Parts: sequence; C-alpha cells; structure tokens
Amino acid sequence: MHLIPLHPATLPGTWDPKEISFRESQREAQPKKSKETLLLIKLQGLGNSPSILWVSSSVLLFSSFLATAAQWAKICSSQPTNKIRGCDSKGCGGYNDPRGGGRKHRGVDVVCEDGSVVYAPFSGKIDKQARPYGNGNDIDNGVQLSGSGFCIKMFYIKPVKYSGPIKKGEKIGILLPMQRVYQGITSHVHIQNCDLTDPTPNL
Ligand code: ZN
Repeated sequence: MHLIPLHPATLPGTWDPKEISFRESQREAQPKKSKETLLLIKLQGLGNSPSILWVSSSVLLFSSFLATAAQWAKICSSQPTNKIRGCDSKGCGGYNDPRGGGRKHRGVDVVCEDGSVVYAPFSGKIDKQARPYGNGNDIDNGVQLSGSGFCIKMFYIKPVKYSGPIKKGEKIGILLPMQRVYQGITSHVHIQNCDLTDPTPNL
C-alpha cells in the first residue's frame, strides 16, 4: 500500500481532497477497538498518577472477578437458592469452619432435604465415584464432576451414574438419608473443589 506523504512544506492550502478522503477511508478500515482497550487507552492518556493506577488495577481486578465468579445452577430440588448450612448441633457448614481434631471444613454444605433430587451445578462429565468416608455407611457416596473450568466432589448423594457427560441443571443424584446417620443435622450436599479452594463464590 502506498500512502502519499503529507509533508509540512505542502501545508497549508495545498490539501488534495482525494488524498484526504483516501486517508479517511484507511482510518475507517482499521479494526474497531474493544471498550476495554479504549478504557485502558483513556486511563493511560490521563497519566500515571497513583489514583489513576488504582482505578486501572481495580478495573482489571473487577474484570477477573467477573470472569471467575460464574454462577452454578440450583443444586437441590428442595432449596430454591443454594443456601449454605449454618450451625446446628453437629457443626457449621461454611468453608473453613472448624472440624474435629483441629481440621477445617474444606468445602461448603448446601442445604438439602433427605431424598431430594440433586442437580449438576455446571455442564461437564462425571469422572468417578467419590466417597466421603470409605466406611460404607448410609451416606458414604458421591461423585467427582469436572467441566466448564471447574472440578468438584459432591458427597452424600446416590448418583444416577459414575461416569459420562452431564448437563448443568440435570439430575445427578438423590440426597441420601443423612438424618439416619446424623440425627438433627441440617441435611445437605457437601461440595468441595478438587483443589480444596473456596467454592462459595460460585454458589
Ligand atoms: Zn461438608
């Protein structure tokens, strides 16, 4: 592509209208910048004062928060929201709540009545069976589910299957009879990330 140079010596009064319209059309042909890019350019244009840098990094942090805090589907048929178990006579259901022997609860307990239908929170595949205790008691069952950028274990359910694809919101199992094992507990599905990070923001 050949661009006719606009030498300062030719200015003013020697503008060739054809040349100007050619340059205009070249400018129009440039790809449009995204809103985010334009915002950053604006911010950079305002200089590097500390407040501008703060705004700039806040925008980036907020963007990455939005990217990771994807919403999971409703998990239990008897619970319209993914409500986290509070504290009852058997303990508390939030992430990092204390457990016996100085351990911490590395998952969240989503309130759910015994026998309720439990749904897949996101689309993916069931990797394998995952059991919380390995002792074969009445609630010692569950699955590992991965996909959509997540990997979790769901405990205390009788799964519909132990492998294969599953869609977000599709039935993944039935809540096992938790009251039979822990009488008086707030029955729940236990969900933990495979890397044991906090799943609360996804609920
Ligand atoms: Zn739990």
